[in-house]
Amino acid sequence: MKESVGTTGLILNEPLLWERGKKGRSGFSLPRRDVESCPLDGALTGEGPDFPDLSEIDVVRHYTRLSQWNFGVDSGMYPLGSCTMKYSPKTNENQASLPGFAGAHPLLPAALSQGILQMMFELEQYLAEITGMDATALQPAAGAHGELAGMLLIYAFHKSKGERRSKIIIPDTAHGTNPASATLCGYLPVPVKSNDRGILSIEAVSEVMDEDTAGIFVTNPNTLGLYEEDIRRIGEVVHDKGGLVYCDGANMNAVMGIVKMGEIGVDVIHLNLHKTFSTPHGGGGPGSGPVCVKKQLEPFLPVPRIVEENGSYALSNDYPESIGKLQAFHGNVGVMIKAYSYIRSMGPKNLKKASQLAVLNANYIKEGLKGTLHLAYDRPCMHECVFSDKHQMAQKIATIDMAKRLMDYGFHPPTVYFPLVVHGAIMVEPTETECKEDLDQFIEAFKTIAKEAGEDPGLLHDAPRRCKVTRLDETTAARKPCLAG
Ligand SMILES: *Cc1c(COP(=O)(O)O)cnc(C)c1O
Repeated sequence: MKESVGTTGLILNEPLLWERGKKGRSGFSLPRRDVESCPLDGALTGEGPDFPDLSEIDVVRHYTRLSQWNFGVDSGMYPLGSCTMKYSPKTNENQASLPGFAGAHPLLPAALSQGILQMMFELEQYLAEITGMDATALQPAAGAHGELAGMLLIYAFHKSKGERRSKIIIPDTAHGTNPASATLCGYLPVPVKSNDRGILSIEAVSEVMDEDTAGIFVTNPNTLGLYEEDIRRIGEVVHDKGGLVYCDGANMNAVMGIVKMGEIGVDVIHLNLHKTFSTPHGGGGPGSGPVCVKKQLEPFLPVPRIVEENGSYALSNDYPESIGKLQAFHGNVGVMIKAYSYIRSMGPKNLKKASQLAVLNANYIKEGLKGTLHLAYDRPCMHECVFSDKHQMAQKIATIDMAKRLMDYGFHPPTVYFPLVVHGAIMVEPTETECKEDLDQFIEAFKTIAKEAGEDPGLLHDAPRRCKVTRLDETTAARKPCLAG
């Protein structure tokens, strides 16, 4: 294999600032005092906090080094399945930093916030168009928050009809947050198994759908990276018994501009702006998980809603059936600005192309690695493909060993051991922003690792070897983190 992009040399050790500090050292020098010294009064003369004494260069080097120990999508390929870790163009960050946006205060009256309200109003419409729905609410702060909003909307819908249903159908290929959101809303999740093709069957849903079931919660494309081909007919089964169809649209990166969810029977969908629409996912936020709904759910959307009249924008609370407010002020507006800028700069044609390339890249990796790794479902995939460690088990090599070794070759590991329906899953989502050369190098790295598994398994059991920290006891690392490095 060609030289790996993994680092090999000049890895600096970094002590704590407390270990580095030296009494009397300082980041600046004041001119000699030319007045009498004057003691400070009581409260200020006690012992100060135990801060280390450091020079400016000590501090700059310390934080610069720490920043270089990090790995992000700006440093290399990050094929973390179900997370859409694609490169987000910097121009969208620039628009979010424009002084008119960045300096806007959420307590300013609508008359002084026309630009930002117009941006949000138009973004709502763009997202409705992309999903094929009728209305959007931007408030939810994350995907799971959008799910909760959607569940509350479904609850409010049934309540308005004088009904109180107790269950929600959730396939085994759903994202883990789906049953959690349904449960938070008071629903009992009813599991349903996917079929041998990795998708839902109409029969399986018909079997469990009844008049006490509020609806179905489908992740589409699902967490196996497969498109739910029968979603339209499944929607009919659910609608026939008075239920609604919730689509977890966090995987929209596979189908933007290609599938209009509203036209295939979906009643409510959330999107992850911090995946698909130019905000990086992870790192603890901020995020944005708007919900898009069909007309019948619009009266229940969270307030305040942005309304437009004769070209001027205002916030309205005049929605008596609303589920209420979900977020402080308007949600995470910076993320919305980036999404707006991304959608406007891409245009409909290129949004579609981004999805097509995301699907192409995932299929390229699937084909490139399918002899090397066991492929859980050997059929065309959407934006991600799911392998397993089945072929390596005889060599006593597990998914975790291969994932750790991948770091030595300069790649962030894929998502592992998820989805749960595949034992030892390795879930790869390359996204559209990786070029063919990088995909080839990723495939090559995995092939080399598979070869090592046969020839020198110790290399994998000890991996990663070229990283700052080698194999951790993950349980202890999580429970008793040692922050001293
Ligand atoms: C990421 C993801 C979520 C959760 O989104 P958060 O913003 O992390 O809450 C839900 N469903 C799917 C399919 C996802 O990929």
